[in-house]
Amino acid sequence: MDQTEALLREITEAPGVPGYEGQVRAIIRRHLEEVTTIEQDKMGSIICKKAGLADSPRVMLAGHMDEIGFMVKLITKEGFVKFVPLGGWWDQVMLAQRVVIKTAQGDVFGVTGAKPPHILPPDERKKMVEKKDMYIDIGATSEGEVKERGVCPGDPIIPISDFAVLANPRTYMAKAWDDRVGCALFIQAIQRLAQEPHPNTVYGVGTVQEEVGLRGAKTSAHAVSPDVAIILEVDIAGDVPGIEPEESAIKLGKGPTLLVYDARMIPNLKLRDLVIETAQELDIPLQFSAMEGGATDGGMIHVHAEGVPAVVLGVPTRHIHSHVGILHRDDYDHALKLVVALIKKLDQTTVQGLTV
Ligand SMILES: [Zn+2]
Repeated sequence: MDQTEALLREITEAPGVPGYEGQVRAIIRRHLEEVTTIEQDKMGSIICKKAGLADSPRVMLAGHMDEIGFMVKLITKEGFVKFVPLGGWWDQVMLAQRVVIKTAQGDVFGVTGAKPPHILPPDERKKMVEKKDMYIDIGATSEGEVKERGVCPGDPIIPISDFAVLANPRTYMAKAWDDRVGCALFIQAIQRLAQEPHPNTVYGVGTVQEEVGLRGAKTSAHAVSPDVAIILEVDIAGDVPGIEPEESAIKLGKGPTLLVYDARMIPNLKLRDLVIETAQELDIPLQFSAMEGGATDGGMIHVHAEGVPAVVLGVPTRHIHSHVGILHRDDYDHALKLVVALIKKLDQTTVQGLTV
């Protein structure tokens, strides 16, 4: 296992749903405290400042620390936990999954459940079970037992899923690629920039609460006040059965993606072109993606103050927003190389030129 694989394993296995990102923040801090100055905004986003040859431009690299999960809503008389989803869950991928509830008394393990099919009439078996009808079973037989274990409304509930290297040893399976992959990318980009000169100051920012509405992006953009921003994310791989190329042409292993459109942001066109040009120079394959039904932290960062030229780079991932996603190490490595090269080009003149 090399350093990158070890980091990806560590950072995806860490629990961190919206509002509960402390353990991910601690990992980022540990990896960057020797080469950056670290601060935190009042929402909990971590800001790692890496000084270069000049104070400005201020380059913001953003990856969100939170993953989708749940929160305890109430405990039923029979001893089951009803929950609030945190982030965009698709009902179909939610059942029979292991979760951990982080209580004041420690970890409580459970599984998502619903009425078993054996007792459903045939017509109901064909229907999708909705989130509102699901619960978490922690193996208790009464409300009292659940409370005794310290489970309380507001406690975070986190998917459990181990990191694994798959049949193609360049593909990895884990939970929370969205967006620990972005956090890992800015950690490693900054570690590389600690070895070489760059004509700017870089802020690696692990944002909080992206999955519930880009909230940490708003406050951390205020704290950093960036001149230019690169948002690092997953992107949706379309190379699975049943997807037509017109729906998505993004494939694993065919390069990082450049998001040309999403529901909340159109990238700065000159910055977009600089990404394309840089990828060509380095022989990095680049895929183009347009996401009509989704957004990233970029949606908030690019409208900060008078506006911030921004672009979103993605690592194609299969099965995002579930307990497991799969991505390709080549895409990660290419994304990292591209980000580092891009940052080295972002000097004062170049960044000023983006908005004229
Ligand atoms: Zn994301």
